[in-house]
Amino acid sequence: MDMPEVIPMCYCGDPAKLSMSWSNDNPGRRFFGCNKFGSRFRKPCRFFSWFDPPLTPRSIMVLLGLLKKLRTLEDARKRERRTWFLVLVIVTVLLFSKL
Ligand SMILES: [Zn+2]
Repeated sequence: MDMPEVIPMCYCGDPAKLSMSWSNDNPGRRFFGCNKFGSRFRKPCRFFSWFDPPLTPRSIMVLLGLLKKLRTLEDARKRERRTWFLVLVIVTVLLFSKL
């Protein structure tokens, strides 16, 4: 992944922060934004500039498909973990109730 050689200055006078977009229109596309963005105590300015070139419609489609698959797998793993935890609790309770 190529990194920026020059970090643009934000309207606040601080270097801008490189972040990644996860919107449906620009999944994985990096952009520069205000460093204060996301902080509740400091007001961010409206600085915004794309770093990566725009994605082709085909790459957007592939990326969104992969993200959807990843979320499905993560959900399945969470469910599986919950089931094993429940089994562990039941086995523990059964073991100690016999003592
Ligand atoms: Zn700023």
